[in-house]
Amino acid sequence: MLKKGSKLKSILTIKCPRCHQGEFLEKGVYDFSAYTSVRKNCPKCELKYRLEPSFYYGSMYVAYALGVAVMIAITLLSYLLLGEFLLITTFTSIIIAVVILAPYLNALSKIIWANFFFHYSSDWEKKKD
Ligand SMILES: [Zn+2]
Repeated sequence: MLKKGSKLKSILTIKCPRCHQGEFLEKGVYDFSAYTSVRKNCPKCELKYRLEPSFYYGSMYVAYALGVAVMIAITLLSYLLLGEFLLITTFTSIIIAVVILAPYLNALSKIIWANFFFHYSSDWEKKKD
């Protein structure tokens, strides 16, 4: 399903954008001891994950878009399941989903942001930094 070299593979598996093998985050998504901290380098291909200081501040734009997408999806799902629009039910569902999904959305926003700048390379072993 996920082709080798596709950005979707890197994003959904939260792996290095260049080699798709190395871990991108310091620890797991729901491990709060290192809340979605990005590693300095890829452990496999040694790609530097930060192009400049505060590189991942830009991922806030992606996180905002993901949050809005989740809210729209829950609103539509709520309407389809209930058959009518109930503001308090929809609002409560959105709050619960966003709180539960927050670490995952944060990690996704960072890996999506990284994939804007880094691209897959099948010969990454030759291009080690
Ligand atoms: Zn890598």
